[in-house]
Amino acid sequence: MTLRDLIERKRDGGRIDAAEWRAFASELAAGTLADYQVSALLMAIYFRGLDGDEIVALTEAMLESGRTLERPHAGMRRVDKHSVGGVGDKVSIVLAPLVAACGVAVPMISGRGLGHTGGTLDKLEAIPGFHTRLSLSQAAAQVDRIGCVLMGQTGEIAPADRTLYAMRDATATVESIPLMASSIMSKKLAEGLDGLVLDVKTGAGAFLTTLDDDLKLTRTMIALGERHGCPVVALLTDMDSPLGIACGNANEIVESVHCLKGGGPPDLRELVLRFGAEMLVLGGAEVEHSVARTRLELAISSGRALEKFREIVAAQGGDPSVCDDPAMVVPSASVHEAYPSPRDGVVQRVEPRAVGKGITAMGGGRTKMADLIDPTVGFQILAKPGDRVARGQPLATILARDDASAAAGRAALDAAFVVGDGEVARRPLISHRVTAAGVETLARQLRDGPGGIPR
Ligand code: URA
Repeated sequence: MTLRDLIERKRDGGRIDAAEWRAFASELAAGTLADYQVSALLMAIYFRGLDGDEIVALTEAMLESGRTLERPHAGMRRVDKHSVGGVGDKVSIVLAPLVAACGVAVPMISGRGLGHTGGTLDKLEAIPGFHTRLSLSQAAAQVDRIGCVLMGQTGEIAPADRTLYAMRDATATVESIPLMASSIMSKKLAEGLDGLVLDVKTGAGAFLTTLDDDLKLTRTMIALGERHGCPVVALLTDMDSPLGIACGNANEIVESVHCLKGGGPPDLRELVLRFGAEMLVLGGAEVEHSVARTRLELAISSGRALEKFREIVAAQGGDPSVCDDPAMVVPSASVHEAYPSPRDGVVQRVEPRAVGKGITAMGGGRTKMADLIDPTVGFQILAKPGDRVARGQPLATILARDDASAAAGRAALDAAFVVGDGEVARRPLISHRVTAAGVETLARQLRDGPGGIPR
């Protein structure tokens, strides 16, 4: 088989068998394939899709392209969380130390920015000295010692996905259910987990924009987990506007630390507590979600969650004083500029895609695989859909490195904010809970502001 044959077959709607996926993944991991051919295959998959057996085969081939963390025979159970990707989504940074502080180990393997969404690794690397490249044995030792590691893929863990992930980002082939499901689950199954929670984003800022597609992706990932003895719980959460206030790498670290200290925006805190409760139950630390939630709240108010984050930062070479005064420790943008409302009215929309693409345009994301990113740029999004605003009132603060970058930020916010006259219906923060047993609709808790989570 040559890669050209696979491209041609997939382009024409044919299927690729398990042995061919295995050969593809192992050559990808070895770095022996031409980027232009891998890119062409990705685009063919994007348009033609993969059937159920191909998704299983690609996932397992990527998983087997590397090694796995062995499941511990004794000690803490291991549970992880993964987000399909959002804007302002720093849940993992708060959640991982919090859950570890409650006695469930979190061996978290995260990704970099993808498409218009930010990546946990890029955010963590805004902490001076923090390194995310750990070997599997270092990661296992850290999980045994402090119950948590926050790391990226290396040549050891699903290396085929590491290459495909970066190529999908640069070739506009992210929004594909088979590619997303296999990417996420190949990494997660390498962690030797007792359970996994998934944050599947819904709305205009999500990669997939219909509920049908969100559920299809979710069920695909749950089935892959079940096949490998890893129970999966997914929550479908709102990404019709950015999460929290901070968007941009360094800026999001500051907000994450505030949340670990008991503050931070309510939508962020609520997601952290809901995912955390699922993780404590999956990890066997609690039976009832309500009791798990109280335990998590206590870990925040007692300072134990923040202390766990301090331990992780120190273990991974970062400056632990980020836990005391984060804004003084992470690098900050040289330009801070208010973005005023053009009129009196009600905020109708804050488009997450425009915000995410704005961060990239300002230098905070990649358009090519090798791009270096500027962690300081981003936005503080001060107004949410449904807020009544006056002309001239700041809707956001632009954090830029120079005047050109600030201009790119202004242009992005011109596209992101719509201020009009009508009232805006609040969206549920968490709309569905999905497990192997089925789909529950949970549309009770509305998002942000009047009639929603109080701000
Ligand atoms: N996260 C991943 O790891 N892969 C995707 O494709 C999307 C989000």
